[in-house]
Amino acid sequence: MRVVLATRNDGKLKEMQRLFAPCGWELVSQATLAIDSADEVRATFVENAIDKARHVARASGTPSIADDSGLVVDSLDGAPGIYSARFAGPERSDADNNAELIRRLQGEPNRDAHFYCAMVYLEHADHPAPLIATAGWRGTIIDTPRGDNGFGYDPHFLVQGMEKTAAELDAQTKNRLSHRGQAAALLLELLRG
Ligand code: IMP
Repeated sequence: MRVVLATRNDGKLKEMQRLFAPCGWELVSQATLAIDSADEVRATFVENAIDKARHVARASGTPSIADDSGLVVDSLDGAPGIYSARFAGPERSDADNNAELIRRLQGEPNRDAHFYCAMVYLEHADHPAPLIATAGWRGTIIDTPRGDNGFGYDPHFLVQGMEKTAAELDAQTKNRLSHRGQAAALLLELLRG
């Protein structure tokens, strides 16, 4: 069975192909099918993930998977949250977003945060009962970046219970521990029924 993944990111496609290999699907990305991106206009990750999954399911006529994720900082009332990719403004780089994060946390002693991921499977665009898996990954935000792996806020995210930032973990370890890896594992369980 063909399933479309709502992403334009090749790295994410490869990772999800590996995670969902037990399903025996042909997992293809929306980029491969030249499907445009859905607008992310909702207040929560879950709603945005459902919108994305519905958009690609409608455009492709096949089942779909979508995820939406980001960083949630306790002392910033949950920011950057759904705005994680554009915290410093539209079209901003990871470096700009990280600088904005550290600027907002100046003088703030509470650095507790978590990455959060919502992952959705939709049988078809109008299906009323999506499978929804959510997971978090706790840590604290540090001012000085460490590590060269990963992306986004990883160099500033000190993983709870470890002496390492997410950017200091190898890809395999991060995929096992992370919000996305955990949400994917849960979704796999839901799919197995
Ligand atoms: P997406 O929904 O997976 O595209 O993630 C949206 C944004 O959240 C990214 O552009 C990053 O800024 C941030 N983000 C999500 N997951 C991670 C992660 O694992 N590490 C670092 N940043 C992340």
